[in-house]
Amino acid sequence: MTIRTYGDPVLRRPAEPVETIDDETRDICEQMVEAMIRADGVGLAAPQIGISKRIVVLDVDGEFHILINPRLVETSEETESFTEGCLSVPGVHAEVSRSARATIEGTSLDGSPVRITGEGLLARAIQHEIDHLNGNLFLDHLTPVRRQSLLKEFQRKRREANT
Ligand code: ZN
Repeated sequence: MTIRTYGDPVLRRPAEPVETIDDETRDICEQMVEAMIRADGVGLAAPQIGISKRIVVLDVDGEFHILINPRLVETSEETESFTEGCLSVPGVHAEVSRSARATIEGTSLDGSPVRITGEGLLARAIQHEIDHLNGNLFLDHLTPVRRQSLLKEFQRKRREANT
Protein backbone atom coordinates (compact mmCIF):
# COMPACT_ATOMS: atom_id res chain seq x y z
CA MET A 1 0.00 0.00 0.00
CA THR A 2 1.34 3.40 -0.99
CA ILE A 3 0.47 6.89 0.12
CA ARG A 4 -1.58 8.67 -2.55
CA THR A 5 -0.12 11.95 -3.72
CA TYR A 6 -1.40 15.22 -5.17
CA GLY A 7 -3.33 14.67 -8.39
CA ASP A 8 -4.97 11.44 -7.20
CA PRO A 9 -8.75 12.11 -7.26
CA VAL A 10 -9.33 10.19 -4.01
CA LEU A 11 -7.67 13.09 -2.15
CA ARG A 12 -10.36 15.48 -3.43
CA ARG A 13 -13.38 13.30 -2.70
CA PRO A 14 -15.29 13.87 0.58
CA ALA A 15 -14.88 10.60 2.51
CA GLU A 16 -17.87 8.39 3.44
CA PRO A 17 -18.83 7.78 7.08
CA VAL A 18 -18.01 4.37 8.56
CA GLU A 19 -21.33 2.55 9.12
CA THR A 20 -20.13 -0.33 11.28
CA ILE A 21 -16.80 -1.03 12.93
CA ASP A 22 -15.93 -4.48 11.60
CA ASP A 23 -12.88 -6.49 10.56
CA GLU A 24 -12.53 -4.39 7.43
CA THR A 25 -12.41 -1.21 9.54
CA ARG A 26 -9.79 -2.75 11.83
CA ASP A 27 -7.77 -3.82 8.78
CA ILE A 28 -7.91 -0.29 7.31
CA CYS A 29 -6.74 1.19 10.65
CA GLU A 30 -3.86 -1.26 10.79
CA GLN A 31 -2.76 -0.29 7.27
CA MET A 32 -3.04 3.39 8.15
CA VAL A 33 -0.96 3.06 11.32
CA GLU A 34 1.68 1.13 9.38
CA ALA A 35 1.78 3.72 6.61
CA MET A 36 1.98 6.60 9.10
CA ILE A 37 4.83 5.00 11.03
CA ARG A 38 6.74 4.06 7.87
CA ALA A 39 6.40 7.63 6.55
CA ASP A 40 7.29 9.07 9.96
CA GLY A 41 4.11 11.17 9.92
CA VAL A 42 2.17 12.70 12.81
CA GLY A 43 -1.19 11.85 11.26
CA LEU A 44 -2.88 10.14 8.36
CA ALA A 45 -6.40 10.10 6.92
CA ALA A 46 -7.85 7.05 5.12
CA PRO A 47 -8.13 8.80 1.70
CA GLN A 48 -4.34 9.11 1.77
CA ILE A 49 -4.08 5.34 1.33
CA GLY A 50 -6.83 5.38 -1.27
CA ILE A 51 -9.75 4.55 1.04
CA SER A 52 -12.56 7.11 0.99
CA LYS A 53 -13.70 6.54 4.60
CA ARG A 54 -13.84 8.90 7.57
CA ILE A 55 -10.95 7.47 9.60
CA VAL A 56 -7.98 9.36 11.02
CA VAL A 57 -4.89 8.22 12.91
CA LEU A 58 -2.73 10.61 14.92
CA ASP A 59 0.67 10.17 16.56
CA VAL A 60 1.74 13.43 18.18
CA ASP A 61 4.24 13.78 21.04
CA GLY A 62 3.81 10.13 22.03
CA GLU A 63 0.01 10.44 22.05
CA PHE A 64 -1.55 7.91 19.74
CA HIS A 65 -5.18 8.02 18.54
CA ILE A 66 -7.43 6.19 16.09
CA LEU A 67 -10.66 8.05 15.33
CA ILE A 68 -13.62 6.72 13.38
CA ASN A 69 -16.00 9.36 11.97
CA PRO A 70 -14.21 12.27 13.71
CA ARG A 71 -15.87 15.68 13.77
CA LEU A 72 -14.24 18.99 14.50
CA VAL A 73 -16.42 20.28 17.35
CA GLU A 74 -14.49 23.31 18.53
CA THR A 75 -11.72 25.56 17.27
CA SER A 76 -10.22 28.61 18.95
CA GLU A 77 -10.55 32.03 17.38
CA GLU A 78 -6.90 32.54 18.13
CA THR A 79 -4.77 31.32 15.24
CA GLU A 80 -1.15 30.31 14.82
CA SER A 81 1.02 30.32 11.73
CA PHE A 82 3.33 27.38 11.31
CA THR A 83 5.28 25.59 8.59
CA GLU A 84 3.25 22.64 7.43
CA GLY A 85 3.70 19.76 5.02
CA CYS A 86 1.71 16.72 3.94
CA LEU A 87 2.67 13.13 3.15
CA SER A 88 0.45 13.44 0.06
CA VAL A 89 2.31 16.52 -1.19
CA PRO A 90 5.85 15.34 -0.46
CA GLY A 91 8.86 17.61 -0.65
CA VAL A 92 7.19 20.99 -0.14
CA HIS A 93 6.22 23.02 2.92
CA ALA A 94 4.38 26.26 3.52
CA GLU A 95 3.34 28.53 6.33
CA VAL A 96 -0.33 27.85 7.16
CA SER A 97 -2.50 29.71 9.65
CA ARG A 98 -4.84 27.54 11.73
CA SER A 99 -6.72 27.67 15.02
CA ALA A 100 -4.33 27.41 17.95
CA ARG A 101 -6.61 24.91 19.75
CA ALA A 102 -8.97 22.32 18.34
CA THR A 103 -11.29 19.64 19.70
CA ILE A 104 -12.51 16.57 17.82
CA GLU A 105 -14.97 13.89 18.77
CA GLY A 106 -15.21 10.48 17.21
CA THR A 107 -15.36 6.79 18.00
CA SER A 108 -12.47 4.53 18.90
CA LEU A 109 -11.96 1.10 17.34
CA ASP A 110 -13.77 -0.58 20.25
CA GLY A 111 -16.80 1.65 19.68
CA SER A 112 -16.35 3.97 22.65
CA PRO A 113 -16.59 7.74 22.22
CA VAL A 114 -13.35 9.73 22.02
CA ARG A 115 -12.89 13.45 22.54
CA ILE A 116 -9.48 15.04 22.05
CA THR A 117 -8.48 18.65 22.62
CA GLY A 118 -5.10 19.69 21.36
CA GLU A 119 -2.94 22.71 21.00
CA GLY A 120 0.27 23.30 19.07
CA LEU A 121 1.17 20.42 16.78
CA LEU A 122 -1.79 18.29 17.90
CA ALA A 123 -4.29 21.09 17.09
CA ARG A 124 -2.66 21.48 13.70
CA ALA A 125 -2.65 17.73 12.97
CA ILE A 126 -6.33 17.46 13.98
CA GLN A 127 -7.36 20.23 11.57
CA HIS A 128 -5.08 18.97 8.79
CA GLU A 129 -6.49 15.41 8.94
CA ILE A 130 -10.12 16.58 9.13
CA ASP A 131 -9.39 18.62 6.00
CA HIS A 132 -8.38 15.40 4.23
CA LEU A 133 -11.74 13.80 5.07
CA ASN A 134 -13.45 16.74 3.35
CA GLY A 135 -11.27 16.53 0.25
CA ASN A 136 -9.13 19.51 1.24
CA LEU A 137 -5.37 19.87 1.34
CA PHE A 138 -3.12 22.22 3.31
CA LEU A 139 -2.31 24.14 0.15
CA ASP A 140 -5.96 25.17 -0.13
CA HIS A 141 -5.27 27.49 2.83
CA LEU A 142 -2.65 29.45 0.87
CA THR A 143 -3.20 32.48 -1.33
CA PRO A 144 -3.63 31.55 -5.03
CA VAL A 145 -0.20 32.94 -5.88
CA ARG A 146 1.55 31.09 -3.07
CA ARG A 147 -0.34 27.89 -3.95
CA GLN A 148 0.71 28.09 -7.61
CA SER A 149 4.35 28.54 -6.74
CA LEU A 150 4.21 25.68 -4.22
CA LEU A 151 2.60 23.40 -6.83
CA LYS A 152 5.26 24.36 -9.38
CA GLU A 153 7.95 23.44 -6.88
CA PHE A 154 6.14 20.18 -6.11
CA GLN A 155 5.84 19.22 -9.82
CA ARG A 156 9.49 20.07 -10.43
CA LYS A 157 10.62 17.91 -7.50
CA ARG A 158 8.36 15.08 -8.65
CA ARG A 159 9.84 15.24 -12.17
CA GLU A 160 13.36 15.22 -10.73
CA ALA A 161 12.55 12.24 -8.53
CA ASN A 162 11.21 10.33 -11.55
CA THR A 163 14.24 10.87 -13.75
ZN1 ZN B 1 -1.86 15.60 4.79
